[in-house]
Amino acid sequence: MKLPPHFQFSQSNLQDFVDCPRRFYYRYVLDLQYPAPQSGPLRDFELHMQQGDQFHRLAHQAVLGIEPDAIAATIDDDRVYGWWENFRARGLKDLPEPRYPEITLSVPLAGYRLVAKYDLIAVGERNVIVDWKTALRHPKRDTLAHRLQTIVYPYVLAQAGAHLYSKLRIPPDTISMQYWFIEFPDQPIVFDYSAAKLAEDGAYLERLAADILSRETDADFPLTPDVNKCKFCTYRSLDQRGAKAGDFREQVNDEPEAAPTILGLSLDQIAEIEF
Ligand code: SF4
Repeated sequence: MKLPPHFQFSQSNLQDFVDCPRRFYYRYVLDLQYPAPQSGPLRDFELHMQQGDQFHRLAHQAVLGIEPDAIAATIDDDRVYGWWENFRARGLKDLPEPRYPEITLSVPLAGYRLVAKYDLIAVGERNVIVDWKTALRHPKRDTLAHRLQTIVYPYVLAQAGAHLYSKLRIPPDTISMQYWFIEFPDQPIVFDYSAAKLAEDGAYLERLAADILSRETDADFPLTPDVNKCKFCTYRSLDQRGAKAGDFREQVNDEPEAAPTILGLSLDQIAEIEF
């Protein structure tokens, strides 16, 4: 199968494929926009996503060096203010410098690009990828270990981060992936990287991309047998897997299965700094 010419692999669409091949087919092969909400209650979910987006902008400003009191003065939402206070106290603690917020890197994968959009990369003797999570539940470490984000982000940094690191390829064993949860500021989850993991992840990503590209028809992209995956999927009524959206407060990821939409705007459409 040939994917659309503009197609780029990402942790989000690879996660879609792993969770449900049919969802990948709808979204990236057919480019089918389906208007069902991903999660509910709709008003609360949209508010939470907007708060999360605002928090990411504040964190970005803080990394760029804007005075914390000036940032705090712009916040008029109590929940976001609480998140900001947590971030101000602990969000950048012990991270090396220089720090690169909102940065995108990419590498080749099976004739396409594999793109990673980072909240923050902090470079030095240690090279730390930081992802700020706004989910209301703390995930299990094992669950997070198998997420495509945990696989793709360190892999892409190890392969494409040379220009951040004195033009030398970053040694894999200096890289770590740190998830920091603004609702649980004392419970970050950190994954250390290594040369062995880089080789293992590279082989896995090649296999995954080859698997996708080997499929031809809709029958090659079956519906997931795990109906729990349908609770937070915009295509559930199309597939007769339920009409009601799952409750977003039960989700442990704030960048969940399907790249979410807020007021018609996909998170993937939010501008990033390209390198
Ligand atoms: S509703 Fe379920 S089966 Fe259908 S695309 Fe979504 S996750 Fe897959």
